[in-house]
Amino acid sequence: MDDCIFCKIIAGEIPCKKIYEDDRTLAFHDITPQAPVHFLVIPKKHIKNVMEMEKADSGLLGELLFRAQELAAEQGCGEKGARFVVNCKSDGGQTVDHLHIHVLGGRFMHWPPG
Ligand code: 5GP
Ligand code: ZN
Repeated sequence: MDDCIFCKIIAGEIPCKKIYEDDRTLAFHDITPQAPVHFLVIPKKHIKNVMEMEKADSGLLGELLFRAQELAAEQGCGEKGARFVVNCKSDGGQTVDHLHIHVLGGRFMHWPPG
């Protein structure tokens, strides 16, 4: 998508602090970290959000989640855990319309969110 900031990151047009990349997924540190560990795992395919995914994307979403937990452990969250968040549309607090899993850790994460 031409005007999508995450598609531009995937294309290498905008730099990121990359953690992991393969042919279907990319993971990079959030530019405004909300915790000592805060990174995003995204599909290279432009999917707007989980509420607009197709059934055919289920496998891809599973891969993203699997990769997210592997990377969380690599980033030091294996023992104490982390929070995996997918914001969706305006009430969900989504600001970038390209599906992404937030992984937050390195401190206790309060509940409920504000
Ligand atoms: P959302 O609010 O849509 O759930 O999350 C979007 C996230 O993307 C935010 O946490 C924001 O800090 C992050 N973000 C927005 N623009 C950029 C960028 O250009 N680079 C990186 N690394 N993160 C970004
Ligand atoms: Zn995109």
